[in-house]
Amino acid sequence: MEDCIFCKIVNKDIPSEIIHETDHFLAFLNINPNNYGHTLIIPKKHADNIYELDEKSSSTLGYEISFISKIIKSAMNADGINVIMNNDKAAGQAVFHQHTHIIPRYLNDGFEHWEPKKYEYEGQIKEIAEKIRTSMLS
Ligand code: AMP
Ligand code: ZN
Repeated sequence: MEDCIFCKIVNKDIPSEIIHETDHFLAFLNINPNNYGHTLIIPKKHADNIYELDEKSSSTLGYEISFISKIIKSAMNADGINVIMNNDKAAGQAVFHQHTHIIPRYLNDGFEHWEPKKYEYEGQIKEIAEKIRTSMLS
């Protein structure tokens, strides 16, 4: 897609530090890493976000995430890995070519996890589950 920075990386029109390439995916280092070794996995075929991934990309993405996570953990001597995907502006997406963040983590690296929200009343969890199940049928 024209004017998409990650399509330009796929097409090698702009440089990137590629660490793995398959027929369908590219994994390269983030230029602004949260920790060193922070990697982005992208489908070569443009999709704005998770909702637009074609069947082939979505069904093989899990394998690629697992494969790259193991490599990054080992190569960077990480204590853990965060796998993060932001979809839409509200979720923090800034580049609208679907991508998955593979972030090496270290004990005491200072990143805090989000505080969980509390349910506000008895039965709310059941209501929410029912709402989601119903929407799957429509
Ligand atoms: P997100 O907020 O999930 O859309 O994250 C987009 C990520 O892409 C950010 O972490 C950026 O640092 C990263 N990024 C943007 N441009 C490039 C680039 N040319 N090469 C590598 N990473 C990039
Ligand atoms: Zn693109």
